[in-house]
Formats: sequence, C-alpha cells, structure tokens
Amino acid sequence: MRKNLSYFYLLLILALVVCLVLSRRSHKKIGASVAVLVGALIGPVTGNLIIIMSGNRQVSTAGCYIYFIGMDLVMVALLRFTFDYCDLIWPGEKIWYLVHSVLIIDVVQFLFNPFFGHAFDIEPIEVEGFDYYRLIPHFGQTFHRLLDYGVFLAVLIIFSVKVFHSSRYNSERYTVILITMVCTGLLQTYYIFSRTPVDRSMTGYGIFGILVFYFSLYYRPLRLLDRMLVNITSQMPEALFFYDAEGQCIWANTSGIRLADLKEDDFEKSTDQLCQKFGQLDMGEGDWSCQRVSGAGDNARSYVLENHIMKDSHKRVAGSFLIIRDNTDEHKNLQRETWNANHDRLTGLYNRAAYEIIQESLELNKVYMFMIDIDHFKDVNDTYGHEIGDRILIKAAGIIKKNFRSDDFVCRLGGDEFLVFMVNAGEEQKPLSGTKIDRINTALSASADGLPPVSVSAGIAFGKDAADFRDLFEKADKALYRTKQRGRVGYTLDGDL
Ligand code: GH3
Ligand code: MG
Repeated sequence: MRKNLSYFYLLLILALVVCLVLSRRSHKKIGASVAVLVGALIGPVTGNLIIIMSGNRQVSTAGCYIYFIGMDLVMVALLRFTFDYCDLIWPGEKIWYLVHSVLIIDVVQFLFNPFFGHAFDIEPIEVEGFDYYRLIPHFGQTFHRLLDYGVFLAVLIIFSVKVFHSSRYNSERYTVILITMVCTGLLQTYYIFSRTPVDRSMTGYGIFGILVFYFSLYYRPLRLLDRMLVNITSQMPEALFFYDAEGQCIWANTSGIRLADLKEDDFEKSTDQLCQKFGQLDMGEGDWSCQRVSGAGDNARSYVLENHIMKDSHKRVAGSFLIIRDNTDEHKNLQRETWNANHDRLTGLYNRAAYEIIQESLELNKVYMFMIDIDHFKDVNDTYGHEIGDRILIKAAGIIKKNFRSDDFVCRLGGDEFLVFMVNAGEEQKPLSGTKIDRINTALSASADGLPPVSVSAGIAFGKDAADFRDLFEKADKALYRTKQRGRVGYTLDGDL
C-alpha cells in the first residue's frame, strides 16, 4: 500500500515536472503563473512522498518541513495565478504585504519549531509492519492549516464571483478551474478527517496542479466556441445546416430553422422538409451548388444552395454543411435587366438586340420574315403629336402580336418599323401570310378607341427562298419598299416582286 502510494507520488512529481517545463515554454501570457504554481507544488508533494516512504525520525521531520513550508509557497503561487487568470489588478500594496507577511510568519514559526516544539511533533507507529512517523499537530500547525484554508477559500470566492459575473462566454473558463478547486478542497479535507495513518493529503493538490496546467494552457472552451458560433451564425441571413459524416442534420441556425419550418432543435427533420421545398438534394454528397425555386406565382422565391464537405486532419469526411441563400431580389433584378436588354420599352416587343439573338436560334427553311412599317407615320406625329404617335405604336404592336401565334417572334426594330419571324411555317402558308397583313390593316383602320386610323405596309420573304438570314432580311426589306412604291396599305411577297 505504502509502496504503491510512493510510486503514485513519484509519477505525480514527474508529471508536475513535465507540466512545469511545458508551461515555461508556453507562449501564452498565463504560462509564467502556471509554471510558478506547478513548480511550487513539486515541493509539498515531494515532502509528502518523503513522509510516506520514511521510517526514520529525522527524514520524516525533514519531509514535514518541506511539506509545510512548501505549502506556504504554493499559496503565494496560487494567489498570483488567480489574479493573472482572472485578469484582476493586484490589490493595494498594504493587503499584499499583509498576505505575504502572514505567510512569512508561518514559515518562520515552522523554523522555530525545533526549538519550541509549538507547531508539530511526530510519533512512530507501525504501518504494514514498517515504521512510520505520524504527525501530531500543535498550535503552530493549526495556524498554518487555517492560513492555507483562508487563502484557498479566498481564491475559491474570487473564482465563484468570476463565474457569475463574467460574460456567458467567459464563465466556462472560470467554471472548469472552480470545479477543479472544489474537488481538490474536498479531497484534501477528506484525507485530513479520514485519519488514515499514512498522510496522503497532497494527492488532491498534485492532481489540481496538472488540471490547472491543462485547463489554463490547452483546454479550448468548446461551449464558448459553440455559443460564439451559434451567435454569429444566428445573425446570418443565410440558412445554415450542419450534417455529420452520415448525412444526418445535427444543427441549423435561426434562418435555417425558419426556412425548414423546424421546431427549435428538430434538426433531423430538416432533410425531409428541405427536399419537400426544393426537390431531391444530395446532402453530404460532395461539394455542389444549385439554384432552386420554391413556391409559385408572386410567392415564388429563388434560392442558391451550396453544399460543402468538411474533412478532418486525416482528410476523412467529418461532415458537411449546406448554405441556402434567398436570392429572389437579385434574381428578379437580373431578370428585369435581361428583359430590358431584349425588349422595347414602349411596346414590350423584342428589340433589335433580341432580333439578332432570335435569328441565330431559328431554322431558315421554316421561317417567314415580315417587315412591317406604318404609313406616313411622320405625318401622324406632326398632326396629332408625339404622344398620340406613341399610343398608335403601342396599339399597332398589340394588333401585330395578336395576328401571329405565341411562338412567333415580333420585334420593333426602331421607329415605326416592325419585324416578325413566323416560325415552323412551310410553303403552303404563303397565302396566309398576306391575309395576316390585311387583318392588321383592318384592325388599324378602326378608330373606336379615339386614335386616328393608320395603315401598314409590309414586305414578306420566305426563308426557303433565301441564301441566309442577311439575304432574307434584304428580300423582305425590298418587298416592303415595293409595297410603299405601289401606294402603301398592303403587302408584297418576295417572289411576286
Ligand atoms: P412611310 O410611309 O414612307 O414609312 O412614311 P413615314 O412618315 O412613316 O416615314 P418613316 O417610316 O421614315 O418615319 C418614321 C417616323 O416615326 C419618324 C419619327 O418621327 C417617328 N418615330 C420614330 N420613333 C418614334 C417613337 O418612338 N414615337 C413616335 N411617336 N414616333 C416615332
Ligand atoms: Mg413609316
């Protein structure tokens, strides 16, 4: 039992030495205070080890001195660590001197013990068949114990205040040390009152040193990081979903909870909800991005979805996250810009830029081109004004559009000139093409809406008879010119020139 305990204490001392070296090398500000505390603890732990191992009065007495005086040094180191760790300003010099003086008095009174015997004595007893020297405490030892308890209690109070008076994020840093201290205090008290013959009261302190070393220098407050991330991501307008390596949703931010219509932490349901909203999605399957629309009509909203795989340090898939951004406004703006670029503002028909694009998508052999121009439009403008002229252009655009199929393309090339591509048409449609112009003229001659009657002239050419679109354009233009020459109001078919 004593042997095992001795080995344990040896290991404890070794561990404390390692902690001392590592904390001295640490670049962190708290490293120096941790090194002093861990280094100070080596003394009393060694003292305790000597007491346990010794069967000799002088050696045991020396062990006790190392233990008790070492503990006073530990208390100074603990105070320094506490103030540094808690970012406290040193108290007034008077209090500081007082604390140091009391601890020095304690050291001095121990040094006088060989002469007065007021602090402690030791007596031999037999433990497991070997000699062991047990401590008999006197007044000086009680003073020492009260002093150490006082400092320890003060440190506990400081950490408790910090736990409750720090921001939510920081309190975890103080809580881990506080819990370690409370456990140490309880362990220490237990050994004192358990009256086991072998003194093992430094066990708690030794472990305390190692834990403080770890928590101060290496421990990353995960709950702190977790809370920070939750806070940052909750303010993001983007919906964010985190998945584990199996593709199971483990967390979503506030926007994500809202988008997937979840109940607070019902994250597992998010996959079904998102698939319902956006269609099949491959969560956890590689890096991808896509654009999806949800809802219909005026309520339709468009979203950009981006999936990213997260890998650990061994390049294994650790999980993935999905970002969903509502880009409805951007999408609408883009649509509006594209529409403006391709449409005539006055009539809403395709403009000249669109005409160039449209012709590239058409099959020449199945297309009729109509070049339509309003007759004497200059005079209309001069007689009735530009505003009436505009209204006539809008009306003419509407009538032309109505006389073609929805898949035909009606363009306003500029001024009073319109161009129509009649698509998917064959030779047999030639007579029909002229009829369309006649119908347009009939509609334009009516003036029930208060607008003056106008007429159009047209030139019609069939793609099959043209070498290419440029030729088709020239043929239609020539046919239009012919109609104007013949007295306007009507049409000319390219072949009939
Ligand atoms: P023609 O029968 O030979 O075509 O004679 P026209 O007077 O119509 O001659 P032309 O086609 O060359 O004249 C086009 C006129 O259209 C010239 C211009 O005043 C007018 N115009 C052009 N753009 C607009 C517009 O946006 N609004 C209005 N109100 N008039 C326009
Ligand atoms: Mg004209």
